Order: sequence, then C-alpha cells, then structure tokens
Amino acid sequence: MPKDLADVPIQYIKGVGPHRAKLLKHLGIDTVKDALYYLPYRYEDRSALKKISGLSYGSVETVAGRVISAEVIKPAGKNFRIFELVINDGSALLKGKWFNQPFMKKTFTVGNSIVLCGTVKRNPYWGIGFEMDNPEYEIISDSDDPSIHVNRIVPVYKVTSGLSVRQMRSIMFQLVTTYMHDVHDTMPPEILTKHMLSDLCSALSQIHFPDAGTDTALLNNGTSIFHRRLSFEELFMLELGLAVLKQGTLVEKGIPFNPRGILLKNLIDSLPFHLTNAQKNVFNEILNDMKRAYPMNRLIQGDVGCGKTIVALMAMTLAAESGYQSALMAPTEILAEQHYLNIYTTVEKLGLSTCLLTGSGKDKPLEQIASGEINIVVGTHALIQEGVTFRNLGLAVIDEQHRFGVMQRTTLKKKSLNPDVLVMTATPIPRTLALTLYGNLDHSVINELPPDRHPVKTLLFHADQKEPVYRFIRDEVKKGRQVYIVYPVIDESEKTDLRSASTGKKAFERVFPDLRVGLLHGRIKTHEREQMMTSFKKGEIDILVSTTVIEVGVDVPNATLMIIIHAERFGLSQLHQLRGRIGRGPYQSFCILLAYAPYGEEARRRLTIMVKSNDGFRIAEEDLNIRGPGEFFGTRQSGMPDLKIANIIRDAGLLHDARQEAFTIVKSDPDLKGYPLLKRSVETFWRGKIELFKTG
Ligand code: ADP
Ligand code: MG
Repeated sequence: MPKDLADVPIQYIKGVGPHRAKLLKHLGIDTVKDALYYLPYRYEDRSALKKISGLSYGSVETVAGRVISAEVIKPAGKNFRIFELVINDGSALLKGKWFNQPFMKKTFTVGNSIVLCGTVKRNPYWGIGFEMDNPEYEIISDSDDPSIHVNRIVPVYKVTSGLSVRQMRSIMFQLVTTYMHDVHDTMPPEILTKHMLSDLCSALSQIHFPDAGTDTALLNNGTSIFHRRLSFEELFMLELGLAVLKQGTLVEKGIPFNPRGILLKNLIDSLPFHLTNAQKNVFNEILNDMKRAYPMNRLIQGDVGCGKTIVALMAMTLAAESGYQSALMAPTEILAEQHYLNIYTTVEKLGLSTCLLTGSGKDKPLEQIASGEINIVVGTHALIQEGVTFRNLGLAVIDEQHRFGVMQRTTLKKKSLNPDVLVMTATPIPRTLALTLYGNLDHSVINELPPDRHPVKTLLFHADQKEPVYRFIRDEVKKGRQVYIVYPVIDESEKTDLRSASTGKKAFERVFPDLRVGLLHGRIKTHEREQMMTSFKKGEIDILVSTTVIEVGVDVPNATLMIIIHAERFGLSQLHQLRGRIGRGPYQSFCILLAYAPYGEEARRRLTIMVKSNDGFRIAEEDLNIRGPGEFFGTRQSGMPDLKIANIIRDAGLLHDARQEAFTIVKSDPDLKGYPLLKRSVETFWRGKIELFKTG
C-alpha cells in the first residue's frame, strides 16, 4: 500500500520547515494531504498578460511590470494619505493606489518585478492614463520560476500574515509535482466511471496548476470537472457517514407502539377544526414508524402555520396510550412555554398529565417525571441535558430543528434511551438537502395550509409614516383584534442607533393611552413572561411590544397585525418566521415592515421579496442566494463535518448522486468490509463528530 499522505507532516517538505509549518497550521494544514486539499480560492489567467497600453477601462485585468516609483502622497487640503505605486511594462505606465495604508511602502522596492490585478480606471483629474485602486499584488523575484507564477493560469491561495501568495504557490507547486502520484484514490472506480469523474491525481494537479486553455470561469466558480470530482468525493464521504448512521438505526431495537386508538380519537374529536389531508398523511407515516420495532427518525417539514404542533401532539397521545412518556423540545423558553400553554388544556381533557421544564423554571417536577406520573414533558434543551430521568421516554419531538442539530439523538442515546424521534422544522428546503442537513432522517412534508387562512398582506412603510401605522393599529383593535410590535433590541444603546422595545412600549402607551400595552423580551423573568403570554392569548392585552423572542412558534390566532420596527435590519428567514405569527386565524392579517433609511441594496432585496411573497420556499431560496449556504444553515453548529470543497447548493446534483451511491453501498455492505480504504477515509472525514463504526 502506498504511504498515506495524511501521515506525512508538512514541516519536512522542502521549502517549509518549522516556521512556515506553524503558519500553514493557521490555515488548517498539518500534513501533505491537508495541503493537497487546500484549494486555490481563485485563479488568474496570466498566460497572456495584457500590455498596459491595450487595457480597457472598467474591466478587471492582470498586468506585470517593474516598479518605477513607490511613494506616500498627502493630497493638498485632505487629511488622508495615499500610497502610490507606478509600474512600467514597456508599453505604458500604470498606477496602483492604496488609501490610508502608508505602511504599504515598505512592501515594494523600485526595480521589483510585480503583478497587479484590479479594475482598470482613468486618472480622475486628467481622464487619461491607467490606474487601479487597491489592486491585488504579487512581487515576482528574478529567481522565481516563471512557469509557476506567470505565463500560465495561476492559482491564488488564501494566506496568512508572514506567508505570501507567491511563497504558498511555490510550496504547492513543489508538493503537487512531488506527491501527485502518491495520493491514493479511495473512490470506487466504478462510481467514478459511472459519473464521469476524473481520477484523483489529475483532479489535484489540475486544480492547483491548470493546463493552459482551461476555462477560468469554471475554475473560479468551482465547477470545473476537477472541482466536481473533489466535491463529489467530499459529498460521498458525508453521505456514506449518514448512510452508516441510518443503517445502524435500522438494526437497533426500538419500541413497537401498540395504541388502542381511543385517546387519539378523543383528541381528534375535541379539535375545533378538521385536519388537513397533508396533516393526516404525515400522521399516518408517523403512525407506521411508531408501530415498527425500530426507532423512528423522521423530519416533518412544513411552512409556518401549517399545523405541525397538533400532529406532534397526536403522536405524543399515541405514545401515552401505549404506556410511554414523551417529550416536546423547543429551542427557546418562550416557545416551550407557548407549547405548554397550547397543549395543556387539551392534554388534561384527555386525562393525561403534562408539565413544563426549562432551565430557568423553578419547582422542576423531576420526581413526577422519574416516576412516570407525567406523560408529556414540554421544555427546552434542558430536559435532555440536565439530570432529568424519565421512567420510560418513548418519543422525543424536537421543534424548529434548525436551531439544534443532528446531535440530539446521540445525546438521547447517551442517556441509554432509544426513543422514537420526530423533528419539526419550518425551513423549507429541497429534499436531498433536507435529508443531508438533518442527517439520517426520513422526511415528510405538510404541504398544505389550513383552508381558512388568508395570506398575510405585507406592506412596506418608512419610518416617517407614523400616522397611517397608528391608524392601522386603531382599526385592528377596534375590530377586536390584537397587535404585535417587534423591535430588534431590548434597550437603547450608545453603540447602535436602533429603536428599542423598552422605549417603544412607553411611546405606544403615550399614543394609545386607552389601550393595554404589554412588553415581552428575553430578560423578563420566566413566570412574568408566562403571565404576559397568557394574558395576550386571553385577549387581555391589545398591543404586545416585544423582541424576536416571539420569532418561533408563538400562536395567538386573534393577533392580526404585526409591525416590525427596523425591518431593514432583520434577515429574511427571521422576517418570515416573525410574520408567521399572524395570519393564523380566520381573519385577514397585515404585516407592516417599518424601515429606517438609509439602507443598502441587500436590505432592499429582503424587504421587496417579503412584500411580494408569502411562500416560505421562495423566501428560503432567496435567502440562500443573498447569504450563501454557510450562514443560512449554520452548518457549523449542526454537528456535521464541515464541507471544504463542495457547496451543497451549487453542487445539488452531485449531492443527489453521491447520496444514492453511498446508500447503495452501505445497504449491501453496512460495515464497508469490502472497502477498507474507503472506510478509513470516511472515518477520517467524520473524526471528532460521530463515531460511525463500533470498535472492538
Ligand atoms: P406551525 O406549523 O407553524 O408550528 P402550529 O402548529 O402552531 O403551526 O399551528 C398554527 C395554528 O393553526 C394553530 O392555531 C393551530 O391550532 C391551527 N391549526 C392547526 N391545524 C389546523 C387545521 N387543520 N385547520 C385549522 N387550523 C389549524
Ligand atoms: Mg411551530
């Protein structure tokens, strides 16, 4: 077997040494393998450098020349300095300008050969000449091998202080040429052939030092055939891990629930509405899972307001009827309190007992939970983390999953329980993506809203249009409806100029002295918060001023108007979640986005899409476009390995294929016995996250 490059420390590579090894460590590079998988973040085509005299204004160009002057200038009457660098390539001069960075002067010496890359501009005073503001630069020394740094498509790497792009490129060149043939490809060859993926050796060497003529656009957006090969591999490792986890749950022993169905019937009969077909279908899938003898792992997706809670409650009733306890976990205390208030009466009517358990709640009914006296425990994460013991937890429901991650089951298992797990989320994302992000779960969608819903009308107002907003409030309250007013912060602060909930409450009390105004935020004590929510639900409060603590789950169908102050500051998913608090009853609801100018282009896009669309799917898509997948999903907290190369949105097709192949392999060979190399790669990929294969 060839030596494993994951075992070769980078320090002993020619041109590295202990000092640079430390710098490389900052970049996450410890071994030769790490380095080979450290990809350029962009490419410059220097195979045919343009002459300065032939540059066109407004386009991004790369030029090479010698430094003829390097000076810090202080423009007359201005209080800033400019570092100006002039280069000559024999055809014309070009000036590079860096504002307020006088220290740049130390970087360059007259006579240096350098490369500059930036947008070509004219001189602002004379309207002629060639300039670049803050161009990317690279100093090429005479001893440099021109076939590495110029005269080719060159890779540009993210570097760290003390290590230049040029040095990094030299190291990479050395590594690629030396070790290219030692990398061993753990991908099954038949999968490579089937999906027309290149072999690892060419992929790595071409990604770092592409042949002349390679399409730089494809290289730059990470979709060249070489990038696709590495992305596929990474996604395949991810999906193999998920497949192994999933396979494990199939052979685990779970609880075969056997309810008589009477309690469930009573529950359904007691509802003031008919279940939608989507709710019935999804519940049947849950029912089938629960009756089976291995643990359920199911994700329920459904836009805000589609009625996920009742479906969960039906499942918990089933569990209770079969003699098991269940837990409903919410991401925030407010939401846990809400769920508790919502289901409390229904549950007690059925003759079951329930309690609330949160981190800050006093009088924790731990004994009643341990004795099994309590059937349904509602709470936050606290209920699986703190020394809470159940007599027989049979079902765990996790609400609004995007705040948690795939690790919950592992936590549950550590408590030596093996309950059925139901995860509910309002983040509408495509199926393969959902399956991947939520780990090894099965997947159901409630793709229908209750029939009596009127889509919320969303209006954009500017901060100076106070009167019409007040009129809106007046009108809704006159009709007997209630109002949410949401602020971005609790208190005013010197650091921001944001309006706050505390001040807002006082202001609205002044404007509407005859109305009942309440305040709700995360710093208010738990029991006061519960009281506040209860009185709002009972209709004893007309206007509830709050922060985003009401973002998820809160359910008061009589509230029909929401005003979001500083709407320009909120993210799209957040706005959609907030807006999901209204439009929950039979009345027409309105959402007023109150925006404070000036705001940027991105904020404008967010506000526009909110006004145009109520469709969570559309909004999630747009949010993804604006923010990019990393931030959108917060995958970092999700307990899944980071993806360094693949991008689950850009590479959705690859993700789909990789998932299919991975699940096929694991189905026929659950322990990957026939694929020892592959097995090792998968374990390395998942190291520190989840142990995939039982050892010993
Ligand atoms: P979400 O899916 O956002 O968690 P909820 O479960 O909070 O939604 O339900 C939103 C509201 O819709 C609640 O007031 C709930 O009682 C009500 N609801 C649920 N299912 C139906 C239905 N089939 N018909 C009418 N109203 C329903
Ligand atoms: Mg909900």
